Amino acid sequence: MKRNWEGLVLRAMGGRDFRLTVLSTESVAGRYQRLLLDDGGLLAACGAHPTMWIRLWFDINGRAHQRAYTLVDPDPATGRLTLEFAIHDGYAARWATNAQVGDTIDATVQGSAFQLPDPAPEHLYLVGDAASLPAVNSLLDAGADIPATVWLEFAHEDEKALTPRARAHHDVTWVPRRDDGQHLVDTVCAALPSGETAHYWVGCEAASTRRITRHARRTLGVGKHQLTSLGYWRAA
Ligand SMILES: Cc1cc2nc3c(=O)[nH]c(=O)nc-3n(C[C@H](O)[C@H](O)[C@H](O)COP(=O)(O)OP(=O)(O)OC[C@H]3O[C@@H](n4cnc5c(N)ncnc54)[C@H](O)[C@@H]3O)c2cc1C
Repeated sequence: MKRNWEGLVLRAMGGRDFRLTVLSTESVAGRYQRLLLDDGGLLAACGAHPTMWIRLWFDINGRAHQRAYTLVDPDPATGRLTLEFAIHDGYAARWATNAQVGDTIDATVQGSAFQLPDPAPEHLYLVGDAASLPAVNSLLDAGADIPATVWLEFAHEDEKALTPRARAHHDVTWVPRRDDGQHLVDTVCAALPSGETAHYWVGCEAASTRRITRHARRTLGVGKHQLTSLGYWRAA
């Protein structure tokens, strides 16, 4: 597959390329496809951190296009990782649904960097959805002792099948996707408190992410270093 300019720029920026191989595939309630992959040396070379994501390359009409996916339970000892694909009408989602054991896919590691603040925050406020649940789960694992309040938007009831890794001191609210995401924005903005010792993490549809981030920064006065936000997908 011929790389486009994005691939060349990423390489120039120090991006590292790997070939992943599908070891097993599992459908979760028809809404997710969970693939176990051999990492082609990725974890040994790059390590892993909470919310770590990679760029997968898909052949779309003969050209390479990248899509971001989050590492689930990366295990450098075995060189294995899992990817969880939310299913919708898209190339990456279709590739995952049809993937067979032995299939390969190219991946680039470039741009992913996150560590929980040190000292640890006293509370985590996390906003996500099906696409960012793997990242939310990695944060709940990494900050297992930290109380957390989590809002997860869902477009279909069976999206709740990919369970949040919540413990007793983690409070999870599922919010239906309504009014193009405005319902999530209103729900979160009405409930989100300000707190100087908290960390805020927002990763949902791009417009919703922007609105929630603006509210946290401008209305609540949340400091830049206290907030991590990234649009995970873009509504058509
Ligand atoms: C850092 C990062 C990490 C990510 N990790 C994951 C992950 O682990 N698992 C995961 O499932 N996604 C993840 N995503 C989101 C994923 O990259 C996007 O959803 C991507 O657009 C999917 O590509 P596609 O080719 O399937 O669809 P596209 O070709 O991009 O879009 C096709 C159509 O589907 C719609 N669409 C795209 N994504 C979604 C969605 N999530 N929900 C509803 N409709 C959608 C679009 O609006 C469009 O109409 C991550 C995104 C980022 C930025």
